Amino acid sequence: MTVIGLDDTDSRTLGMCTTYLATLVAEAIEARGGTVERRLLVRLNPAVEHKTRGNAALALHTDLPAGTAFDLAREELDRWAVTEDERTSPGLVVAPGSPETVSTAVADFARGAVRDFHDVDDAETLADRSGFLSAGWHGGRGRIGALAAIGAWAAFDEWTYEHISYREFHRCGTPRDVDVDSVFEAADAGYPVAWDTVDHGENEAVCVPNAPGPILYGIRGDDPDVVRDVADAIESEPVDRSATFLTNQGSDAHLRDGTLSELRDGRAYRTTGTVVTDPETRTGGHVFFDIEADDTTVTMAAFEPTKRFRNRVRSLRVGDRLTVCGEVTEGTLKLEKFAVRDLVRTEPTTPVCPDCGRTMKSAGRNQGYRCRDCDTEAPGKVARPVDRDLERGWYEVPPCARRHIAKPLVRGGFDAPTHPER
Ligand code: ATP
Repeated sequence: MTVIGLDDTDSRTLGMCTTYLATLVAEAIEARGGTVERRLLVRLNPAVEHKTRGNAALALHTDLPAGTAFDLAREELDRWAVTEDERTSPGLVVAPGSPETVSTAVADFARGAVRDFHDVDDAETLADRSGFLSAGWHGGRGRIGALAAIGAWAAFDEWTYEHISYREFHRCGTPRDVDVDSVFEAADAGYPVAWDTVDHGENEAVCVPNAPGPILYGIRGDDPDVVRDVADAIESEPVDRSATFLTNQGSDAHLRDGTLSELRDGRAYRTTGTVVTDPETRTGGHVFFDIEADDTTVTMAAFEPTKRFRNRVRSLRVGDRLTVCGEVTEGTLKLEKFAVRDLVRTEPTTPVCPDCGRTMKSAGRNQGYRCRDCDTEAPGKVARPVDRDLERGWYEVPPCARRHIAKPLVRGGFDAPTHPER
C-alpha cells in the first residue's frame, strides 16, 4: 500500500482545485493498472492565511509501489498545478506502507495541521525522517498539507463523505448551469443523511460553488450511496467526471476544549461562560456580545453572513450561561454554534402594590419601595418572568455560513437538545 498526499495546487483567481488534481492522479493510477482504495479530502486549520478557500489537502490510498505513484503524481502536478500564480506553492509527499501504520509523529502532525500551525521545514524534516518521497514547487508549502493528509487516516476516526461532480474543463469560469429546483428536491430526499446541500432559509443551493474552479456541485453526508443518489438526481450541464471522498468535513475536528483565559488567535475552541453584555448590532449587521468566566471576558461575534443565526444571538440576555464554539481572531471568537446551558427566566422589576395594583415608588436610597396611597411596603425589586425565544440546547449558523469542518447539528451526538438549521 502507498499513500499519496498533495496540496496547494490551485489559485484563487486562475482556478483549478486540488480535489480535481487528485481525481486526475487517481485516473492516472488506474490507467497504469493500479487501484485507488480511498480518496481523502482533509480540511486543515481554517485559520491558515495562505489558504485559497477551504484549506483542503488530499490523500490517495493505492496499491501501486511508492516510486511509481510518486512519478505519476509528480507528472500530473507538473502538468496541472497553477504555478503561474506565485501564491500557489504545491507539495507532494508519498509514503510507502499502509495509512494505518504511520508513526505517531505523522499522526500528531495531521492533528496539529487541523488545530494549529506548522512550518514547511518541519514538514520536510518529518517526511524525510519517515522515509517518504516528497517534492515541492514554488517553496513547496503544500508539503505541510500533503503530509497532514497522509497522517489523517490514523489521526482521526470520524469520517463523512463528499461526492463531487466536475464540469467539463472548458466551461470553467463560465456560470454553472444547474437546475436549482432539482437540487432542492434531491436535497430534501437525501436529508438528513445528506446535509448542507441547500439552505432553505436563504433559498440557496450551497452545494454549487461560486469559485472559478472545476467543481459543479459537491454533496456531503454520512453515507456514500446517499450522497451519490442526491448527486445523480440533480439536473445540470454535463458532468464530466465525479469522485467520492472520505472527509473530515462536518466533524468539528478543529475544536479544542479550553477555558476563556486559554484562548489564542488562530485556533478554534469549545468553551463556556456567562453572557455579561447585551448583544449589540454594529455597522454591517455584525452582532457582538461578551461572555465571562473566571474573571476573563471575551467578545463573541456573529457576522452578517451568518444571517438568521444573528437573531438567535440577539435573543441572548445578560446572565445566560453558554457553551460556545468557534475560531479566535484578534481576541474575538467567531461563533459557529452555541449551546444554551441556563437561560435567565426572570428580570428584576419595581414591585406592584398588593392593595391597589399600582407600581410602588422608591422609598429612598436602599429603603425599598412604598405605595404612597396605601402605605404598603416592599423591601426591594421583585422578579418578573420574561419571555425567551431560546430554549436550552444547541443553535448553529445556517448551511450557507457553515465552515467545511464544522459539525452540523443534524449529525447528532451533541450533549444537549439541538435546533438544526437547514
Ligand atoms: P482549495 O480548498 O481551494 O483546494 P485551499 O484553501 O486548500 O485551496 P491551499 O491552496 O491548499 O488552500 O493553501 C493552504 C496552504 O496552507 C497549503 O500550502 C498548506 O500546506 C498550508 N497549510 C495547511 N494547514 C496548515 C497549518 N496548520 N499550518 C501551516 N500551513 C498550513
